[in-house]
Order: sequence, then C-alpha cells, then structure tokens
Amino acid sequence: MVVVGGGECGARAAFALREAGWNGPLTLVGAEAVPPYERPPLSKSMMTGPHASAPATICDAEMLRNGGIDFIAGTTATDIDRDNHEVVLAHGRRIAYRRLLVATGATARPLPIPGAAADGVRYLRSHSDALALRDRLRPGARIGVIGGGFIGLELAASATLRGCAVTVVELAPRLMSRGTTPQIAAVVAARHERAGVDVRCGTGVARLERRDGATLLGLTTGETLLCDTVVAGIGAVPETALAHKAGLAVDNGVRVDTRLTTSDPDVFAAGDCCSWPHPLYGGRRIRLESWRNARDQGGAAARNMLGADEPFATVPWFWSDQYDLTLHIAGLPDAATTEVVRRRHDGVEIRFGLGPDGRLLTASAIGTESAAARDIRLAELLIARRATPHPTTLADPTVSLKALLRQEPH
Ligand code: ADP
Repeated sequence: MVVVGGGECGARAAFALREAGWNGPLTLVGAEAVPPYERPPLSKSMMTGPHASAPATICDAEMLRNGGIDFIAGTTATDIDRDNHEVVLAHGRRIAYRRLLVATGATARPLPIPGAAADGVRYLRSHSDALALRDRLRPGARIGVIGGGFIGLELAASATLRGCAVTVVELAPRLMSRGTTPQIAAVVAARHERAGVDVRCGTGVARLERRDGATLLGLTTGETLLCDTVVAGIGAVPETALAHKAGLAVDNGVRVDTRLTTSDPDVFAAGDCCSWPHPLYGGRRIRLESWRNARDQGGAAARNMLGADEPFATVPWFWSDQYDLTLHIAGLPDAATTEVVRRRHDGVEIRFGLGPDGRLLTASAIGTESAAARDIRLAELLIARRATPHPTTLADPTVSLKALLRQEPH
C-alpha cells in the first residue's frame, strides 16, 4: 500500500490501513521535510501564540516507526506507472504498489496579477509560510489581506490580535461566500469591524507596486493602500498534476466515485484533491477543503483500498475561529432553498437550511467558544438520516434536537 501526500488525509489513511488490518508494506510519501502536522492552527494559534512554535505533529517519527509506516519525507511523486503498478519519485526511485492513494491536497490559488509573487505577496499553506508571516505581524504593521474567506479572515483576526492595522479586500459583495449564509457572514463582518479591521467587500486588486520597502495596492475602486505585508487567501486549487499526468480522470479535482476510487480501480484519491458524488446531495459532485473531510476521507479510502466497499456519505463539516467567535457549519448551505432559524434562550441562533422536499440539508451557527457545537453535532446526525423535520418544530427552542433525532429512523 502506498499513500502519496503527507498531510492530514494521507497520514490518517496510513494509520487507518494498519487499523483495518493491513500487515504488509506501507509507504507514505510527503513533499514536506517534516512529519505530518495539523494545518488548522497555522492561521490561528501559530499566529497569536507568545512564541513561534514547531508544527503540531499528527504523528512523529516514532509513531510512524511503530506503525510500520515507511515515511519518505521531502520528496514528491512525479509519476504513476499504472501499467507496472509503480510510483515514481522525484529522484527516480520507484515504489511498487498493490493499491495507491493520491492525497496530494490543494495549493494556494495564486493572485491573478502579473508580478504579484515578485512583489512579495505571501500565501499561507505550510508551517514555514506561517513562520515567515508570523514574523511580520508586528504591532502597528499595516497588513493587507486579499480575500475574505476562511484563511483571510482567520489571519485578519490573528493579525489584529497582534496589534496590526488590517485591511481585508474581498472581491465578492460579502465575506465568506464559500460555505456560509449571508447572515453568518454579516455577524463575522461586524465582529471584524468592531476589532478595527477595515473590511472592503466588492473590491478587487488591480495592481501592485513596491514602494520604499512597502507594497502599494491599487484597488479596483481607484483607491490605493500602502501595506507592509500583503497576504492573499483567495482560495485553493486541487493538486491534480500527478493524477493528470498518469491519465486519471480529473474534474475539479481527481475524479473519484463514492468508494473514492479513481478511473483506475487500484488508485484511490481522498481529501482536498478529489471530487466525488455526494449521496446526501443528490449525487452532486463536490470537492471540499475541510480538515474534517480530509481526515474522514483518508480513513474511508484506506478501508476501501482493503476491499471494504464503503460509500463515503459523511456530512460536510467546517469550523472557523475568529477572535472569541467560533463558527460551525454542517452540510452544504448552497443546497438549501428555505431557511429556518432557532433562537435559543441563551441568544444563540442556529440556522437550518431545508431543501425543496423539506429535507434538512445544512445547519450553521456562530457564537462564543463552543456554544453551538452540540446542536450542530445533532443537526449533523439529522442531516445524515435525511430527516424532514417540520419547520415549526425546528424553530422551536423548547423542542430539543435530540428529541427530533429520536423520532428519526436509523
Ligand atoms: P481560503 O481557503 O483561501 O480562505 P475561501 O474560498 O474560503 O478560500 O475564500 C477565498 C475568498 O477570496 C472568497 O471570499 C473569494 O470571493 C475571494 N477572492 C477570490 N479572488 C479574489 C481576488 N482576486 N481578490 C479578492 N478576493 C478574492
């Protein structure tokens, strides 16, 4: 068994292969020189903690050794020789596989402005990106964040907490248009503004210029912004080069079926790099950039590599921490046609989205710490069971979601 990609998904898959009973040779190939680590803290605690810290490892060298996982670090796979069932590594080494998992993840979408890289625009994807960026978040530093999505806003919050003066430039008319409702985005925008962030939606960057060690951003509104550091968080692109070169089907990510099998039955793909038809959303092909999805798909792919024939139908789940707020989203908000709001007595609002057939498709909430975590977890179970709760009951905070769940057949 060979796993290409040493991130959350690949690491989880390697251990899941062992847990599912694989006793034979197992190789994990990672492009970064360090053992697999958690990426969520990079935009949060890594930026705000008192000191620059080492990566939060998912598994260290000893765990990998104990798991009998041959971890090849700092090496990229350059080709898959499907006829001979071999993976080709950058320095020419070949590794034979019976089954292969492509868990290559995603890379930061580059800013579509000529010369942006040369002009010092930064991205946040790896621990070393985080270290370099953290160093620049000095009190009073002017930080321009391009993109008001998950990464941009988490960074904006972290930079503000470090005493920086932050401007967020978002092309869309509102923040977080991927995966959140307008109401939640409005709460997020208000919180940033209260913290002193200059939030500019419906605004793009037309040009960039180096000026006296700083970067001048020319905005599409005609205004200019002088920044000490510019960081772009404008989405991610699936890392499909390896799959594409090997002739595997690619369709907004490596194309897999519900068993996470690619167009080659001995090659699987999982995590940010793949798209699959989601059974809970009418078989719509989706690709998720989500920590939980990477982890869960890694596990499912591992079991299927060993013949489990398990369809992947886990409810999508996302979270974000910004200041004292935690946002939880279960399901896909863009699939819903009707919104139902449950206003709890403690002031927390849970927003549900139903489909045209009355099925619960999504739930989201924003609040301090984990106030809404339990309700979102229950909503997730309702979504998984394809529940069609009555809107009035759903909105009624005196009826617990647990009670609604009990009424649902398994
Ligand atoms: P990420 O994981 O990078 O945060 P998201 O999809 O959550 O990705 O957010 C990316 C955000 O960047 C979206 O809100 C999108 O509208 C915005 N965006 C995309 N291109 C540009 C651009 N050229 N300038 C400003 N914002 C952009």
